[in-house]
Amino acid sequence: MLVVMRQNANQKDIAAVVAAIEARGLKAHPIPGAQRTAIGITGNKGAVEAAAFESLPGVLEVIPVSHAYKLVSREVKSESSVVRIGPVEVGGPRFVVVAGPCAVESLEQALTIAKAVKAAGAHLLRGGAFKPRTSPYSFQGLGEAGLKILAQAREATGLPVVTEAVDLESLELVEQYADAIQIGARNMQNFTLLRRAGRSRKPVLLKRGMSATLEEFLMSAEYILSEGNYNVVLCERGVRTFSDFSRNTLDLAVVPAVKRISHLPILVDPSHGTGRREKVAPLSRAAAAVGADGLMVEVHHDPDRALSDGPQSITPPMFEALIHDLGLIVPVIGRTL
Ligand code: PEP
Ligand code: MN
Repeated sequence: MLVVMRQNANQKDIAAVVAAIEARGLKAHPIPGAQRTAIGITGNKGAVEAAAFESLPGVLEVIPVSHAYKLVSREVKSESSVVRIGPVEVGGPRFVVVAGPCAVESLEQALTIAKAVKAAGAHLLRGGAFKPRTSPYSFQGLGEAGLKILAQAREATGLPVVTEAVDLESLELVEQYADAIQIGARNMQNFTLLRRAGRSRKPVLLKRGMSATLEEFLMSAEYILSEGNYNVVLCERGVRTFSDFSRNTLDLAVVPAVKRISHLPILVDPSHGTGRREKVAPLSRAAAAVGADGLMVEVHHDPDRALSDGPQSITPPMFEALIHDLGLIVPVIGRTL
């Protein structure tokens, strides 16, 4: 259910509607728009009595929301959301590029890559300190020491940092050090973690599960918004299919599908989406053309010796060439780089 306020409704009217919603044991989510404020209602088990709100001052109409996902939906908020990660706006006119190593391996490695991607034009730095690895014997990340290195890399380059939290414990640390909390594909349906991220004050980058439908993906985002954190950026990173020429199948068609249903910004990760270095640039160019709000790309200065995901990491010169190409493509779709 959505309570749509009149254009001339004031803060007192909005507060009264919020109070009326909360008095019924429900949760109110005021969503300011360019024209008017709407107030989403969640927490109801069955139908909510519309008449209870319709007669309140400043209320234009009360409309049912037809999808299971509410707060992420354009029915609730028609304008596209802009999510700030540090000073960087994701979902605005700028096509945002997040780049960096798969994993933070050392201070020297992180600084070398951070400086290279910054010089080439990246807007945000990525790098895992907590790595969800298929094998328990693979490099698991440096943990808090890795977060400290990322903070130093931010200091050195000015790039805000996006890094993954894999559980409640690491989330506590990630929100202290990073500018955005990444929730990875393997945790897309870790509902406890999603709820905790929803109570964080940091923006969340939510990656699509490797076998998640669009609806499941959006429902996971809904978990975060339902706890009051509206700063969610989605990220398509490929899904598992029968296709055997790449690690995953990058589902670029999900981008316009998300844009139609949801106001949340969406990035594309062609590194995990393909698993092969030589496929990263072509799929990145396609992601820009299809209307993604940006990219997340793995870059390593010595990929053959990378402790994780070397085969899909591009080198700094390859990244530079990619940025050059994106500079030619994004103006065609009305964006800047
Ligand atoms: C990552 O971005 O470091 C990562 C592990 O990706 P995903 O969760 O998409 O596999
Ligand atoms: Mn990786």
